Amino acid sequence: MISSNDAPEIEWIKEKAKADDYNISEHIIRYFLTKKVTIREIEDAIANGRIIEIHSHPEKGASALLLGYSGEKPIHVMCADDQHGWLLVLFAYVPARPMWKDPLNRVTKGGKRMGEKLNKCFFCGGKIKQVKVGNFDYRLEGKLYVVKDIPAGLCMQCGEKYITAQASKKINRLIEEDRFGGTEEVFVLKYE
Ligand SMILES: [Zn+2]
Repeated sequence: MISSNDAPEIEWIKEKAKADDYNISEHIIRYFLTKKVTIREIEDAIANGRIIEIHSHPEKGASALLLGYSGEKPIHVMCADDQHGWLLVLFAYVPARPMWKDPLNRVTKGGKRMGEKLNKCFFCGGKIKQVKVGNFDYRLEGKLYVVKDIPAGLCMQCGEKYITAQASKKINRLIEEDRFGGTEEVFVLKYE
């Protein structure tokens, strides 16, 4: 399903990746932490990859889903042009069920893509499952706050989370009322 628009071209993506002219999204850091995919594997996949889908977003422009391999391991990498001459790597994952039948083909149901409309991730087209998210963390003035057990739609593919208006109002209210209680140990990894 490839349509022409402002999605990045494969040669441009490869050039940018090779020159280290790219940024990665927060999703990918999360993937590093779960050891699902490494930056080396992402670079390998881009180097031999090809574009298999173009995703258009009304506000964010278009992104290209690329399939490449690191050794035998298939990897999907979602790439966009950040509009400042750099490649933006939105997320990367190993294609697998329930979303992918094989690295090239999505699982289809009755000729339709699974999870169309409400059940489909805005960012990657992945399937949304209703879960309780254990931890939402955010920083404010150097302090780390964690909000626990929020009902959310979780993308099974890229990990994007969707919170209903109702839940977000409740969270906002609890924050405003400063209803934080208890602390937990935090493990810190220093980059430098
Ligand atoms: Zn997603």
